Amino acid sequence: MRVMAQVAMVMNLDKCIGCHTCSVTCKQAWTNRKGTEYVWFNNVETLPGQGYPRRWEDQEKWKGGWERTRSGRLRLKAGGRAKRLGQIFANPELPQIEDYYQPWTYEYKNLTEAPAGEDMPVARPVSQVTGEPIDKIEWGPNWEDNLGGAPEHAVKDPIVEKIRDEVGERIRMEFEQSFMFYLPRVCEHCLNPACVSACPSGAMYKRVEDGIVLVDQDQCRGWRMCVSSCPYKKVYFNHSTGKAEKCTFCFPRVEVGLPTVCSETCVGRMRYLGVMLYDADKVTEAAAVEDEHDLYPAQLGAFLDPHDPAVQAAARAAGITDEWLDAARRSPVHDLIATYQVALPLHPEYRTMPMVWYVPPLSPVVDAVAATGSDGEDAGNLFGAIDALRIPVEYLAELLAAGDTYVVEAVLRRMAAMRAYMRRVNLGQDRDESIAAAVGLTGQEIEDMFRLLAVAKYEDRYVIPTAARADADALADSHPLDDGCPVSAEALGGSRPLLNLSPTRRSA
Ligand code: SF4
Ligand code: SF4
Repeated sequence: MRVMAQVAMVMNLDKCIGCHTCSVTCKQAWTNRKGTEYVWFNNVETLPGQGYPRRWEDQEKWKGGWERTRSGRLRLKAGGRAKRLGQIFANPELPQIEDYYQPWTYEYKNLTEAPAGEDMPVARPVSQVTGEPIDKIEWGPNWEDNLGGAPEHAVKDPIVEKIRDEVGERIRMEFEQSFMFYLPRVCEHCLNPACVSACPSGAMYKRVEDGIVLVDQDQCRGWRMCVSSCPYKKVYFNHSTGKAEKCTFCFPRVEVGLPTVCSETCVGRMRYLGVMLYDADKVTEAAAVEDEHDLYPAQLGAFLDPHDPAVQAAARAAGITDEWLDAARRSPVHDLIATYQVALPLHPEYRTMPMVWYVPPLSPVVDAVAATGSDGEDAGNLFGAIDALRIPVEYLAELLAAGDTYVVEAVLRRMAAMRAYMRRVNLGQDRDESIAAAVGLTGQEIEDMFRLLAVAKYEDRYVIPTAARADADALADSHPLDDGCPVSAEALGGSRPLLNLSPTRRSA
């Protein structure tokens, strides 16, 4: 057993209200610069839909992530090193600006500085890349906002295409009428990151101390193989500096025990941050299991129980501090992923072993039950509806379980049980242990899960060890603050020392 620790995230999709505060605050902090106008380290997609960049889930086109060879080994879907090097100057698997969108602003000066005349001054849209006027804005990073399920968008969703092939036109139409939800996305800081393996210059790296994946700006040669190899399309090319950039998991904040900007500002309180312990010796094996349905349980099996004395001893021997072990024991992320098993990985079939997991939304099922005039909070009604509403479950399974509907149904049943059990508690009725037992939990576990998911207090949502603080202080001493620092002293906690934000290679 080789114990390693990672700071991971869980998002509860039932609580995302699609306000995009996370995207805007992230952009203000990290990509409010020349060359990154089109870049959203955090974006929020309305599903079903195409997403950002368009149809990023279509790996037949983009060739992102890993595939398993017949001999059971993993290789990058983008091909071997020779093939990738041969595509350096003409990579057909690289998204173009049109796949993201042409970023634009408006000629606001016209409104205030136009000379007096007969006509009303107008502010035309202009490209932030070329500076040229744009005749017609036809796409944006959030173009499908709230249009999930609309026929013109839903049919272009790669998952919808797949389901349609499997179950036919009739069910596609029912499905379109049934639901929409939001999917906020950041880099997954994967355990088996394709971006790191694809980088020929060794610029992409995963930090040993906390698992955060970063780009060493000094090493990056701008070959963009990380962009095409990342199946989540969460590495971006800065066309001004000629280097790759990506979500940093707000490492200067995390190092001093603060949540990421997107988490801190999340209006829906739907993000959770905490430590996961895992066995590094199991990662490759878990990512290479033959049956895609086994990928989720295999990744679950690579995580370690922080309460197990043997794991604690091995972790200490590996140099993990008591502060990190204490955080791992109190980790809300571990509770949601491993204890209650209500969080699932995004597209585990990409075999990168992502570390931002999602609690699937129960709301489409509740809405559908309520629309029939029945009680949408009743356990019996909800359990029945989860079974009957095959199409949302099929869709969620493609998104979060490599198509395994059994896994998603089990999670939704747990969520439905929590809803029904807690309604009785809140109405002053007797606690009904049979509801909890029906999903393999105790009443107390349901109440603890409810506290975490529904009450969601700040200190319960974010348990981030500050043991890296000593390192962070040392870094701050050794690097003078960049003039362009996007994270203010207030944001870092007032009197706390500011950090140099150049991603510094701190581990091999
Ligand atoms: S999601 Fe992040 S860590 Fe995973 S492959 Fe993409 S850029 Fe790399
Ligand atoms: S801030 Fe939170 S609730 Fe709002 S869109 Fe982002 S993840 Fe969803």
